[in-house]
Amino acid sequence: MRAPAKINLFLGVGSRGADGYHPLDTVYQAVSLYDDVTVTESAMWSVSVEPIGDIDCADVPLDSSNIVVRAGGLLTAHHQITRRAAIAINKGIPVAGGMAGGSADAAATLVALDRLWDLQTADADLLAIAAELGSDVPFALIGGTAHGTGNGEVVEPVTDEGSWWWVVIPNDIGLSTAAVYAEFDRLDSDGTFLVGRTRAVIAALGTRDVNQLGAALSNDLQPAALSLRPDLEQTFADARDAGAHELVVSGSGPTVLTLISDQESALGVRQDLMDQGYRGVLVATGPVAGAHVVEYA
Ligand code: ATP
Repeated sequence: MRAPAKINLFLGVGSRGADGYHPLDTVYQAVSLYDDVTVTESAMWSVSVEPIGDIDCADVPLDSSNIVVRAGGLLTAHHQITRRAAIAINKGIPVAGGMAGGSADAAATLVALDRLWDLQTADADLLAIAAELGSDVPFALIGGTAHGTGNGEVVEPVTDEGSWWWVVIPNDIGLSTAAVYAEFDRLDSDGTFLVGRTRAVIAALGTRDVNQLGAALSNDLQPAALSLRPDLEQTFADARDAGAHELVVSGSGPTVLTLISDQESALGVRQDLMDQGYRGVLVATGPVAGAHVVEYA
């Protein structure tokens, strides 16, 4: 199974609720960076990880704390079966970069095991299990471009007429999502959560107008990410020098995204950043499909 990275074109975050969660109002887009997950029946759960290209996999756990094992545990519990599998991940999504690589792996694992064991899990049950695993996992199943609400578990596809090009600037040092939310809580003084803020992004998606979408990009976690990592301001400045206009931190960061008008210009911005000494800069397009089967020749 192949599952895509996500970016948030808009990420609205409310104050932490009594349940400990933050309400979200977000527009997700699945982009063409992928993890592949291959499952094989086995006596015990096991995880292996291989990088694709320059991806640094050092921080990916190989024990039961890997989200793919939790995904397998929830699926087998749901069906009251005791089967196990070896799970091999080929990782093309930057780790701890705010692009939901772990969530992509979890979504791919759910679908892969469902197929391996012919469990025929109902879509609604698969989505409910995905939501239990994490707020970005349901979207990784669905892909495309979608509006997410609740804690991210309510995902509705939105019309996206464009084929958008992104330059993805990863960072050598990951940012913990929990740390970014803790900083968000510290900075979040008014406690308001306005609804309907995704309107401008959703309208822009229907226009194919890169300037309109660029102007509507927004991320409520960005001030918290920049507060923890002021060095990202330099990444913004360097990307502007390379020709980027519209920049946004991806999810909880530290990956920085820039929306570029076309593939050739995106490759030019990427090359300029690499010439400045940035490593692992990627070009991606979206929207792309959610978790799907691939066959290797
Ligand atoms: P999100 O945007 O969903 O918060 P992220 O993209 O910032 O996530 P991930 O790459 O999903 O971050 O991983 C965050 C942390 O989760 C990693 O540092 C790692 O310790 C742990 N982890 C557990 N399972 C995985 C997995 N399959 N792939 C990557 N990281 C994993």
